[in-house]
Amino acid sequence: MWFRRDLRLDDNPAWSAATTECAQVVALFVLDVRLLDDAGPFRRRQLLANVAALDEELRERTGTGLTLRQGNPTEVVAEVVAEATAGMVYLNADVSGFATRRDRAVTASLPDGVGVRSLHGTLVHPPGTVLTKNGALSKVFTPFWRAWAATPLDPWSAPGSAEVVSLASTGSLATDGEPPMAPGTAAALTRLEAFVAHADRYGDERDFPAVAGTSMLSADLKYGTLSPRTALEVVGESTPGRAAWCRQLAWRDWYAHLLVAHPSLEREPMSERYRDVVWADDPGGFEAWKQGRTGYPLVDAGMRELAATGWMHNRVRMVVASFLVKDLLIDWRLGEAHFRRLLVDGDTSQNVGNWQWSAGTGPDAAPYHRIMNPVLQSRKFDTDGTYIKHWVPELGGLPSAAVHAPWDLPPLELAAAGVTLGESYPWPIVDHFEARQRFMTAFRIE
Ligand SMILES: Cc1cc2nc3c(=O)[nH]c(=O)nc-3n(C[C@H](O)[C@H](O)[C@H](O)COP(=O)(O)OP(=O)(O)OC[C@H]3O[C@@H](n4cnc5c(N)ncnc54)[C@H](O)[C@@H]3O)c2cc1C
Repeated sequence: MWFRRDLRLDDNPAWSAATTECAQVVALFVLDVRLLDDAGPFRRRQLLANVAALDEELRERTGTGLTLRQGNPTEVVAEVVAEATAGMVYLNADVSGFATRRDRAVTASLPDGVGVRSLHGTLVHPPGTVLTKNGALSKVFTPFWRAWAATPLDPWSAPGSAEVVSLASTGSLATDGEPPMAPGTAAALTRLEAFVAHADRYGDERDFPAVAGTSMLSADLKYGTLSPRTALEVVGESTPGRAAWCRQLAWRDWYAHLLVAHPSLEREPMSERYRDVVWADDPGGFEAWKQGRTGYPLVDAGMRELAATGWMHNRVRMVVASFLVKDLLIDWRLGEAHFRRLLVDGDTSQNVGNWQWSAGTGPDAAPYHRIMNPVLQSRKFDTDGTYIKHWVPELGGLPSAAVHAPWDLPPLELAAAGVTLGESYPWPIVDHFEARQRFMTAFRIE
């Protein structure tokens, strides 16, 4: 069994199949330096800590731990297959271009007679199985969601009783710092339980970054320390808040299904119309955005939270993404790469899907409606400025109502709050209304 982003023993179809169909099984994890180098500090620490937690859980349950190998899976998996004289490699499929190419190469590297049994344990429904009445994957979310909700779940069986065999390990799970979140399945289930206690209020609380109103389970779903089906079953749909949360899992499936059906989405807009958009060449603006020094407090708070913790609230992700693309007219692919590197839940299909949605270049696109006004968003979703003042402490002395647009305050009042624009905090780097016009021209929106 080759574990990748399915780091759990329960509700894991590939692990169940391996331990049911075989007498002995090697539980392999490959430390692939290409992935680790790309991951950024938060994701790398979280991944390695999750692998260590899986190893511990496996030892507790079976007395034997993971076989850890460092290297390129194209060589490592074939080596382990030979050492173990294995007849089959079990895995849960992944959807990104990198993963698809890697798995194809690994399959080709195996000797004749050794098969790969690829299951789907990372999504609620496997790609290709959620089809609307015309037999196609919908490019619009709501029809996809209806079909998704009506699609029956394939049963996933419980783990079997195969003996776990361990081979010599290479590589180390040591990291350069603590993971952002407590690792492993037990911690994921604790987070799930904590969320269930306020899941009924999800619809009312989910949009406010200063409120702990969401589940914080995206990194668990990304690494598979939690199965999306377990989450769906535990939360259930008994109240509107819970049903709204389950619908978010449909978004997650949708973006993964879309990437399988349209692999070019990773790099290209879905709509032909936006292929020739001329993006601004603005390294200074990009740097200000990354550092949280745009002069728009909500944008800056989000970007600083990301840099410091590897996390950002969904509402703020939408605001900063809209700001990069629409206010700065910077190519969404640059923002996508920055997010993917820093986010602890950074995941190609989810990140690309959401960036294309924010840019208005992807499926279900409506670019005009998603030009978010960063000041109005701030007033609406961080009304008393709690989130902003936490991440942009130099604005901490401002009255709450003024924190969203400090440039509107008279200089004397700013000075009384210890703020000097252009010194302690930047002036806005663009005028939102001019930028909006520039974006609409670039995107040829009438
Ligand atoms: C520009 C941008 C980039 C993003 N990049 C990522 C990413 O790399 N990885 C990632 O997992 N999510 C990404 N998201 C989606 C979303 O922001 C996070 O999934 C969510 O904030 C995680 O917090 P939570 O677990 O508390 O979510 P909850 O609100 O509790 O939602 C429950 C689960 O539903 C799923 N979900 C929620 N919102 C979305 C969404 N918009 N799209 C798809 N699935 C969703 C997630 O798996 C989440 O854990 C991105 C959103 C934007 C706007």
